[in-house]
Amino acid sequence: MDQIRVHDKIFVPFIAADQIKRRVEELAQQISADYKDKRPLLLAVLNGSFMFAADLFRSLTIDAEISFIKIASYQGMRSSGKVVTAIGMEQDLGGRDIILVEDIVDTGKTLHHFIPTLQQQHPASIAVATFLHKPDATIFPLTLTYVGFSIPNRFVVGYGLDYDGLGRNHYQVYQLAEETTKES
Ligand code: 5GP
Repeated sequence: MDQIRVHDKIFVPFIAADQIKRRVEELAQQISADYKDKRPLLLAVLNGSFMFAADLFRSLTIDAEISFIKIASYQGMRSSGKVVTAIGMEQDLGGRDIILVEDIVDTGKTLHHFIPTLQQQHPASIAVATFLHKPDATIFPLTLTYVGFSIPNRFVVGYGLDYDGLGRNHYQVYQLAEETTKES
């Protein structure tokens, strides 16, 4: 099998490139139908979603805009909760139909904390399009409107997703090989 090594770990093929291509095109068709008379603004969450966002965006058959953001969270000085902000969100989102584009939803924590920040700008609607979803790991309530693939709770790389900076540049998705999960 065409396994790959990323840093110290071995990964094995998991989702083939042609499967990804087909599924992303299906999602784009669905989005194009759902937003037929609208002009959605895709907000792609960097870094991991850049490949999915690019493929999804160019398969849309409707007018749409795209912008790239980075989500940063920090502990507020006085408040007890975490403060979540987005870097690169200069556009006015008031009245816009937003589609948040993610590489993977794991616990759901990132988006669960970020969506209220978006809502403060009063967009017309917010939907989430995620390339991958790990339902068994998701503990924060979230509505995921567009999901590429639901996958088991196993670490994956490729198609934009990294392991410590590496492994993003593959057309297919790889999962951590069985034997390397037994360590520590
Ligand atoms: P959440 O906030 O949903 O727990 O985590 C989402 C983020 O965790 C993703 O955007 C991604 O950066 C990282 N992540 C979660 N699972 C994986 C995985 O299997 N592979 C990679 N490369 N990143 C993951």
